[in-house]
Amino acid sequence: MLLHDHLDGGLRPATVAELASEHGYKDLPTEDVGALKSWFRDAADSGSLVRYLDTFTHTVGVLQTPDALARVASECVEDLAADGVVYAEVRFAPELHVERGLALTEVIEAVLAGFADGTARAAAAGRQIRMGALLTAMRHAARSLEIAQLAIAYRDSGVVGFDIAGAEAGFPPTRHLDAFQHIQRENGHFTIHAGEAFGLPSIWEALQWCGADRLGHGVRIVDDITPGAAGGASGARLGRLAAYVRDKRIPLEMAPSSNLQTGAVASIAEHPIGLLRELYFRVTVNTDNRLMSDTSMTREMALLVDAFHYGWRDLQWFTVNAMKSAFIPFDERLAIINDVIKPGYAKLMSDA
Ligand SMILES: [Zn+2]
Repeated sequence: MLLHDHLDGGLRPATVAELASEHGYKDLPTEDVGALKSWFRDAADSGSLVRYLDTFTHTVGVLQTPDALARVASECVEDLAADGVVYAEVRFAPELHVERGLALTEVIEAVLAGFADGTARAAAAGRQIRMGALLTAMRHAARSLEIAQLAIAYRDSGVVGFDIAGAEAGFPPTRHLDAFQHIQRENGHFTIHAGEAFGLPSIWEALQWCGADRLGHGVRIVDDITPGAAGGASGARLGRLAAYVRDKRIPLEMAPSSNLQTGAVASIAEHPIGLLRELYFRVTVNTDNRLMSDTSMTREMALLVDAFHYGWRDLQWFTVNAMKSAFIPFDERLAIINDVIKPGYAKLMSDA
């Protein structure tokens, strides 16, 4: 189960190098696959969201043709399925892939074709995975309404929702109200990257002005919680915004490694996910950018197990939280929970 994963943040290092040479992209820091893999992780480790986002110049640079987009989308599905993911919402920003003249619709169609291809390949390898695409608009740009309209136009072809991403500071989500209102009027779903680098006002705007269904990260909601004695959940006091988020079961799409890399948290052990889980917020675990964080769902879960001594029941709780929060219809979510996730965890627990 994965709700927050970026297509341009999940390329295989070897694919970055191959696409760069095929498409004459000359700006990679190195062409050696091993060195490239470390370069992405190290750049992302710098602790600055701005530098972290800069690594995307290269992945986006090699994703400017239908073939490249479809290949990366297909490999994404294969990699997620091989990692044991059974449902994934993967997002991409069509407006970033038009540098060589592609139309936004061509970008979307190439990625959706890649997802279909990857799903078929995974099935052939004995792994069932259901993919949903989220269309992202860049918060510093001015194309969000157009992207939101496309998310609705492609809702029956594999696009399940809408998102905005990019540097938070200086670009509040309320700049994109018309886009969110379009999604709402069309009974669609959207999430907003908020409360990652920036604090409570960003979360508040995303929910109370824009009406987001979910929060991308939302880590800083912890600033509205006063922990109890010994820093724990017992006796913790919630401010009005934190109480609202918990009461309304607003899903938080958290990504431990990514949050660490962008400086949103100081260490995995100090990640608010521990406290939020104890307080029964609707927390979900995600990869965000598998290339930059050199990670997978398995690794993110393992990091949490190490830091918080979680067992299978906790991991099942996070997994079911995520499936409950997916943007596909209720009956389909329920079917995956009852027919795939619960039997899967039951087997793990009986084997343990
Ligand atoms: Zn993200």
